[in-house]
Amino acid sequence: MPDIPVYPLFVRDATNLDAKPELKAYVFETIDFAPVRGYSAKPINLLILIDLSGNFLRIRLLDHKEPLFLDSAGTQKLERFASQYKGLTPRHTIEIGPFNDPGLRDENVAHVKGVQQGTISVKAINRAILTAAAAVATAKLKNGADDNVTAPVSTAIPKESKETKDPKLTTATEETKTLSPSSKPVAEITEPRQDHHKEVTASPVAEKTNPINATNAVAMTDPSKGVNDSNSTSQTSVVDVQASQPTSLNIDSQTTIHSNHELNIQASERDDWITSWQSRRTHIVIVLCGLLALSVALIAQLRFSANPVRMRRLRTLYLVFTVGFIGWIAQGQLTIVNITAAIEALSSHGDLSFMMNDPMTVILWLFAGVSLLVWGRGTFCGWLCPFGALQELISLVANALGHKQRRLRTALDTQLKWIKYVILLVLMTSLYAAPSFAELLVEVEPFKTAISLYFVRDWPYVLWAMVCLLLSVFVYRGYCRYICPLGAALATLGILRFWSWIPRRDECGTPCQSCRHRCEYQAISPTGKINYQECFQCLDCVSIYQDKERCYPLIQMKKVIPEVSRLR
Ligand code: SF4
Ligand code: SF4
Repeated sequence: MPDIPVYPLFVRDATNLDAKPELKAYVFETIDFAPVRGYSAKPINLLILIDLSGNFLRIRLLDHKEPLFLDSAGTQKLERFASQYKGLTPRHTIEIGPFNDPGLRDENVAHVKGVQQGTISVKAINRAILTAAAAVATAKLKNGADDNVTAPVSTAIPKESKETKDPKLTTATEETKTLSPSSKPVAEITEPRQDHHKEVTASPVAEKTNPINATNAVAMTDPSKGVNDSNSTSQTSVVDVQASQPTSLNIDSQTTIHSNHELNIQASERDDWITSWQSRRTHIVIVLCGLLALSVALIAQLRFSANPVRMRRLRTLYLVFTVGFIGWIAQGQLTIVNITAAIEALSSHGDLSFMMNDPMTVILWLFAGVSLLVWGRGTFCGWLCPFGALQELISLVANALGHKQRRLRTALDTQLKWIKYVILLVLMTSLYAAPSFAELLVEVEPFKTAISLYFVRDWPYVLWAMVCLLLSVFVYRGYCRYICPLGAALATLGILRFWSWIPRRDECGTPCQSCRHRCEYQAISPTGKINYQECFQCLDCVSIYQDKERCYPLIQMKKVIPEVSRLR
């Protein structure tokens, strides 16, 4: 028997309690074989019960940290997804469809219903299940060669013993020791167990429909592995198996699994993300076209902003595209969770490949990263953030209705802008000092509520998102300028920008304050200097710079030049 954390499950014939319990299934946790990371970069863990033919009998979600599914309703969605694997095998080709997929299946192919906004999470679950099951099947079910596992020798189970009354599994090593005093240990688990293993409370085989009669089942497991409800975190336990007994496995030759290679497992990470990218090619093409158009406009900023009315219209149109398509349709809202997940992934295993499952995030982060170096945080915040764009559109609607946002006093505005940096600092510190607080603090971002979940969420989250949006009726992009930790992170990284791209004149600031008074984001200092950390690249000041009616030096020049001409 290989030294792997897989636990045999024995079933006793209810009609013949003197008979030796028979091996019927195996129980294991996916984290031991495939610690697949989801959106949060933390591994998802499932408990799997698999029969001797490789059929999934039961799958239960033990632990996850998927940001969109942290509440009980979200967790239930993931549990429902995992439960669809019941009756399938690692040999099945699994197609994850939309959330309303009819879920058809035959002996080779199975369609499972996806989870709305949960592509990365369900793919991680899929991969964890299939990869772990394949490993277990290969080790335990290959022609029965490795399965010299038998029930405990002793058959002296009292008729009124605990397991005959309790519908739960009889699991702990206590019973095992009693049942097989002569048996010898063949596997030891020495790694410390994690807290989340305590969460399993129910027997995975307690279902009536289960082919295994739970009343008579004996799982040779460690309680700390989570099959029963023990809170034990024992560091060393013995899977007590009579290795000398001949195998009595009943593996159907038709369904025997020979090796990993013969398993049709489309579970490799690479396959996963290639499928993700292929399935989203329309979204990818549209977003790439949008990014190309934006790049051209920003490179040709002087020409693009020469006509202020046309520029305003095009900008408003782009913001609608950002909210509607990038945000609500393509789900391309970047978030501080991407950064925290990347930090955690880099510090724990140095692998960011889990991000490849979300093409929008990858494309937008690449673009945001490059534009950060060229133009600063303004390119993303000013043009590509769906929640930021939504705020600006709300401000524009309020303006159209005659409500103008208030300009705060410069000193107050400067002080308030520090709030977002403080939030970012606390968040980053708590990532290490108090991870559960960090999970709570990321909820300061209303993106998940307003963009990813279309405001369909518990009311406190919806209320917070509405407050953030309403703020922009009174203060232009108030959330962005004062609260947003992602904006703060981008502004901090923006110090790497190598180009001061906004054209300036000697008169900017002294004496001219025209741009400064018109910059809605209050990103120009009284000296005329641009604060690129707070600039949202709206191009208003670039437009003013070339406007003979609004730029003071140009107005002066216009006055002087005819006089000079007359003097001649
Ligand atoms: S500050 Fe935050 S909400 Fe505003 S545009 Fe930037 S990332 Fe988006
Ligand atoms: S007007 Fe303000 S926000 Fe807009 S580009 Fe100029 S400095 Fe940046």
